[in-house]
Amino acid sequence: MQANASLPIESIRTPLLTALKQERSFVLEAPTGSGKSTQVPQFLLDSQCIPKDQVIYMLQPRRIAARMLARRIAWERGGKPGEEVGFHVRFDRVASAQTRLMLVTEGILLRKIFADPSLQGVGAILFDEFHERNLYSDLSLAMARQVQHQQRSDLILGVMSATLESDAIRNFLEPCAHLKCEGRTHPVEIHYTAPPNSRPPTPIWESAAQAFRQSVRSGETGNHLIFMPGAMEIHRTIRAIEAMPESKGFELHALHGELPPELQDAAIDPGKRPKVIVSTNVAETSLTIPGITVVIDSGLARIPTYDPRRGVNSLLVQPISQSSASQRAGRAGRDAPGTCIRLWSKSHHHQRPPHETPEILRVDLSETLLMLHASERVAVESFGWFEVPNPEQLQHAQTVLRDLGAISGSLPRITALGQRLAEFPMHPRYARLFIEASQRECLQLAAFTAAMLQDRSILLPLQHRNEMQIRLESLSDEETHDSDVLMELKAFLIAKQANFSTDRCRELGIHVGAARAAVRASEQFLQIADRQGLAIEPLHRSDWFAFRKCLFLAFSDSLARRLDQGTLRCALAHGKKGTRRRESAVDAEWFVSLEMEERQVKGSVQVLLGRNSSVQPEWISQWFPDQIQTCETAYWDPWQKRVRQTRSVQFREIEMESKEIAEIDEEVAANLIAREVIEGRLKLKAWNHRVEAYIERINFVAHHFPEYEIAPITASDRITLLEQVCYGALTEKALQAVEILPTIQEWLRAEQQALMDDCAPEHLETALGKLKVRYESTRAILSARIQQLYDLSPIKIAGRVPVVYEILAPNHRPVQVTDDLDAFWSSSYPAIKKELKGRYPKHEWR
Ligand code: ADP
Ligand code: MG
Repeated sequence: MQANASLPIESIRTPLLTALKQERSFVLEAPTGSGKSTQVPQFLLDSQCIPKDQVIYMLQPRRIAARMLARRIAWERGGKPGEEVGFHVRFDRVASAQTRLMLVTEGILLRKIFADPSLQGVGAILFDEFHERNLYSDLSLAMARQVQHQQRSDLILGVMSATLESDAIRNFLEPCAHLKCEGRTHPVEIHYTAPPNSRPPTPIWESAAQAFRQSVRSGETGNHLIFMPGAMEIHRTIRAIEAMPESKGFELHALHGELPPELQDAAIDPGKRPKVIVSTNVAETSLTIPGITVVIDSGLARIPTYDPRRGVNSLLVQPISQSSASQRAGRAGRDAPGTCIRLWSKSHHHQRPPHETPEILRVDLSETLLMLHASERVAVESFGWFEVPNPEQLQHAQTVLRDLGAISGSLPRITALGQRLAEFPMHPRYARLFIEASQRECLQLAAFTAAMLQDRSILLPLQHRNEMQIRLESLSDEETHDSDVLMELKAFLIAKQANFSTDRCRELGIHVGAARAAVRASEQFLQIADRQGLAIEPLHRSDWFAFRKCLFLAFSDSLARRLDQGTLRCALAHGKKGTRRRESAVDAEWFVSLEMEERQVKGSVQVLLGRNSSVQPEWISQWFPDQIQTCETAYWDPWQKRVRQTRSVQFREIEMESKEIAEIDEEVAANLIAREVIEGRLKLKAWNHRVEAYIERINFVAHHFPEYEIAPITASDRITLLEQVCYGALTEKALQAVEILPTIQEWLRAEQQALMDDCAPEHLETALGKLKVRYESTRAILSARIQQLYDLSPIKIAGRVPVVYEILAPNHRPVQVTDDLDAFWSSSYPAIKKELKGRYPKHEWR
């Protein structure tokens, strides 16, 4: 049981315990296998730094790692999980009153912190595997830091990882001890199997099996660890390897979170024969598997990502980063030099991102934001994020929550409905759908719909138009009419009744695998609904019509209105535009879209609206009366060349109805014209350079001669002046007749007007004759050729404001603008003279 005495991590035991006497936070970087997860919590348990009646929480992002580490640590301390060492993961808690070390997953830890914001009885929280940067780890760290800061200065916070960008964390946890420990590693030889620039061959499990065969044929007899993105790929890989004669003599093991614990343990425990372990990225850094000599890496992982198509977060198979790949390779070099076979090409490797993007920057934050709003202890506006999300992400989440009715107010606060939605362990959109559906006897339909939305599509894509016609005719009836969602639901239920027989599914165009997965998902949704006390109707009683209203309420942020009959273009809520998918069966003018896909078309983004369901416009006024606004909009009609005005009724910026108003509001019209002129869309003959020059002169005098109390003309004054001159002129003809200069002159009183020729003269009499002055941004600019300036003595306007000289070459091109002529003669002039004299030898050059 002294398996741990010689682990590299021993070297940091004393420095860590010493540091904790000063600082209550630490960051620990040490390679995989050095003993972080198994030893560090024991260092704390066996020291004086935490009172004996307090518990240490250690976060493990993966359920399987939490359970296995609990088992290992308990064993090292001569006990069993549930005694001194326990664990708590979703659906499984093994702990007792004696438990002092608790291994937990992120959801559990986060809920614990929200439930008890003073963390009574918790002495330390260790964030293991922090480099994974899952959303809930980030949030838990931020919350725990707030607790430590505000009320628990004794709480120990530790962040541990094999591969960490530690500076940001140290700054966040300041004052914070920083510990590092070297591990023992052996060189790993890397091979790429794919030819340069080729895509990885498919299916990936076939390539992995081929790589295994090559490895055995080349004489490898040790343990092989194969990384695959998920359970499905793992089982296919095992089947492919089993079929090969090379697999003889090896034990084959799967390792992933869905397996029963006995099989997980069997995969890790030493066996009698060499092993082939096919694992998800749980074996990347979380679990130590001894004696691996060959790693075969698919280079893929299921990564939680925002899927903009469905507006939800989901696990998508994606290429891993370079840093993940090097961690995976490292698993082959723990005990002796090893080999890693990468099933991609070297050139592709270099195109991969160096690190994974933290989840908080990748996913939809509606659920998270609602959780923060629901907590009394958190001020959402000033929340101390560890990594601050993008403003657009927060904005989007806020719009979703607002549209769902979960938050309201200009400084948003949670509503009673929002509190209720926050109790559901799911996206608030689905929580809303379920609550509404349970009140309208269609919760079963809601659960199936939510389950179907987990997958891309249960209905296979249609190839031909007539195929679509046939399918639609067989599915469209009174219940499903004008709703893709309900038709899909109907097809699914018909197939389910036929027990997903291959024939029936083919007829309906249903994907059997996806449909079966949806049945399982719907059962989980119903369980959650049941636990939340929602009424569930028998399926044959489900109210299909009422369910449309529920879809409207849960997806009202993606409400669309067809712009015309001829095209598929639509106006979307909040001023966006979209296009209904051609294959959608929904003909209604108003509908909600449950699947929006953003697509790049010729440089701009097009939003395609699919999985639609029709909406009756009266539902809008029925449910959202206070979000319906009437606005009057004036616009310039470029064809009729006149101002027109409409009065429209809008819901979240989508026009519901609009009427032209015959009696145009002259004030609104004047404002419109002023803006059109200022923004350059409408030319007003009378607003010419003389007007501009006069304004500049006024501003010059206002600035330099404050004693005359002239107000400068600002940008908004210009609009006011324009409004004034355009007032009542609604057509182009009337506008071209207006006079402006007199209105501008009226800005000044008569005696002020008389000052203008003194304080901002248009011309100056000089020894060289009359020179024109130009006024610009409170400067008076005198343009003159070099030759005119030779004998000029300094000039001041009204004896006060020195002019700025725009010095011109003989061809009248400016060579310099300066307010200091002397400096010009002594510094720039000699070089300019040299150049210009060559070009204009006939002019005088002094
Ligand atoms: P780290 O967290 O730094 O990656 P661990 O604390 O998980 O390291 O493991 C430290 C060492 O303990 C490993 O190198 C291994 O020798 C041993 N070990 C850990 N878990 C097990 C296990 N389940 N079975 C056998 N040995 C284990
Ligand atoms: Mg570890």
